[in-house]
Amino acid sequence: MIYAVSFLALQKSIIYGPIASRRLGPSLGINISSTVANVCSFDCVYCQYGPTTCHVASSEGLEDMLPSVDDVVEALAAALATIPAPAYITFSGNGEPTLHPRFPAMVEAVRSVRDERCPTAKLAVLSNASTAGDPAVRAALALLDAPIMKLDAGSAKLFAAINVPAGVRFDDVLEGLGAMDDFAVQSCFIAGAPGNADDEAVADYVRAVGAAKPSSVQIYTTDRPVARAGVQMVPRERLAAIARRVCEEAGVAADIY
Ligand code: SF4
Repeated sequence: MIYAVSFLALQKSIIYGPIASRRLGPSLGINISSTVANVCSFDCVYCQYGPTTCHVASSEGLEDMLPSVDDVVEALAAALATIPAPAYITFSGNGEPTLHPRFPAMVEAVRSVRDERCPTAKLAVLSNASTAGDPAVRAALALLDAPIMKLDAGSAKLFAAINVPAGVRFDDVLEGLGAMDDFAVQSCFIAGAPGNADDEAVADYVRAVGAAKPSSVQIYTTDRPVARAGVQMVPRERLAAIARRVCEEAGVAADIY
């Protein structure tokens, strides 16, 4: 396998930013993954952090690599004492946040800190949706203002090729999303092989969006060095055409970023 170079560096701390998020505005990041590895259930070919170094379906046995709820509360409270109020506080960072074994408790604790120290900030998560089938995770996601869930493919075959899941079934992801209320889908489109921007892939994708029934869809393409050589950006006019199909055929509002 040939890898591209100059990936985004892993976040070195629990709190990072605020960053100027294209989708959220000023966003303070919370990394509840490791600071020395990207712990993720996917190994997306377009990942800006490069190839996943800890590719797991669950974080069982990895607890020592991950911050505790107390660690996160302390770090967030300290950050909010020194920086201007961000528009969002966002679970993201080095891997998949919902893999943390105490994700529900983490969400409750971060909400309390937000309510006390920065009540105007909204809470978001950028999730790959691999745990959406877990009712406890879904209940935690429902406590956030903006759960933003990944859906890049409309078939199990393309899901496997683009997201390279570790023991995660496409049907379970779709079923989990279908059981959620009031969430956004985030979708990254790429050209090359594998690619998900051709007509057949988009038709499957639009059907999957219709089944998942998100409140909105965020469409983008890659704009940085990514995990695999050969992954190509999709032109903006093609992204706009995909967004139109989502609106017209799935009945869901879609924006491109
Ligand atoms: S889900 Fe996110 S962190 Fe995980 S491999 Fe894909 S792009 Fe990277």
